[in-house]
Amino acid sequence: HAKKCGRDSVRRFSWSLKDALVQRIELIKDLRHAISNQEFYLVYQPIIDSKGSVVKFEALIRWQHPEKGLIPPDQFIQFAEESGQIIEIGNWVISEAKKALIDIRRVYGDDVQVSVNVSPIQLSNQQGGICVFLESLLTDPDGLKDAQQKNGLVVEITEHLLMNLDENTRKALLDFREKGIQVALDDFGTGHSSLAYVMNHDIDYLKIDKSFVQKLDDESSALSLCEAIILMAHKLGVLVIAEGVETQHQVDLLLGYGCDYLQGFYFSRPISLEQALTYQQNKVI
Ligand code: C2E
Ligand code: MG
Ligand code: MG
Ligand code: MG
Repeated sequence: HAKKCGRDSVRRFSWSLKDALVQRIELIKDLRHAISNQEFYLVYQPIIDSKGSVVKFEALIRWQHPEKGLIPPDQFIQFAEESGQIIEIGNWVISEAKKALIDIRRVYGDDVQVSVNVSPIQLSNQQGGICVFLESLLTDPDGLKDAQQKNGLVVEITEHLLMNLDENTRKALLDFREKGIQVALDDFGTGHSSLAYVMNHDIDYLKIDKSFVQKLDDESSALSLCEAIILMAHKLGVLVIAEGVETQHQVDLLLGYGCDYLQGFYFSRPISLEQALTYQQNKVI
């Protein structure tokens, strides 16, 4: 019966399913050697304050795969989370970002920060967990000096994490607070959480998701939304970063609403550390 009415379609379906599975298994296998083969690197995107100065950089991971070429994080972080490899990769990101912070502060001064994206799994896994790792960095003699490390790193988490708080995650968030590591809530507005979560969890920054910023040009609902987020965040003592800023018009609107920081292609794409160290912000604000 199957032979008669759809062998081709059945075969095509199972092949594409197989392709996806093979791809997934291959990537997970290749991830095992990616750190030791030095296939990962970080790029840095400047974050600008309302006066036009560079005040932070966001570190973003890239994977230069030996055969498949450059793989963006959206295509492998999920697999690394599923396989548990995100712990090791996440620790690599943090130690790399800390090294970069030393160079960045030499150029931009001691108030500049580097933010890193952190997976929920890094916070809920205690053994390989982020706090244990941060602790070891703090006592590492090659680590940053006290003055340099204070407030140097910002951890970016997502709303999803706050909605599924387990005990380890709760502890990790308290630990950040104690160690002077600030926390930013990334992609704000895309999840199901609300500003109530922000109020309950000692968040330092809200990052308005780029989908809202990009609608600013032609949707009045986006205008009111951004305005309201900024207003309420400020009432809660939280600073606001707009991500995905691409036009002067968006800059004008966001600063008009009192947005504290801007990040996006309008100012710069994510760039190498060398480029970051010589980046000149030349947009008039
Ligand atoms: P994210 O943390 O929300 O990072 C912002 C993303 O928006 C980055 O994509 C950045 O390149 C992109 N972007 C910045 N400005 C603009 C703009 O003006 N227009 C547009 N269209 N896009 C802009 P990227 O680097 O591909 O990263 C995607 C996501 O992957 C990140 O979203 C973050 O969730 C995750 N990710 C990146 N690096 C890491 C990492 O080291 N660890 C973990 N766990 N996740 C990471
Ligand atoms: Mg981020
Ligand atoms: Mg984001
Ligand atoms: Mg995002």
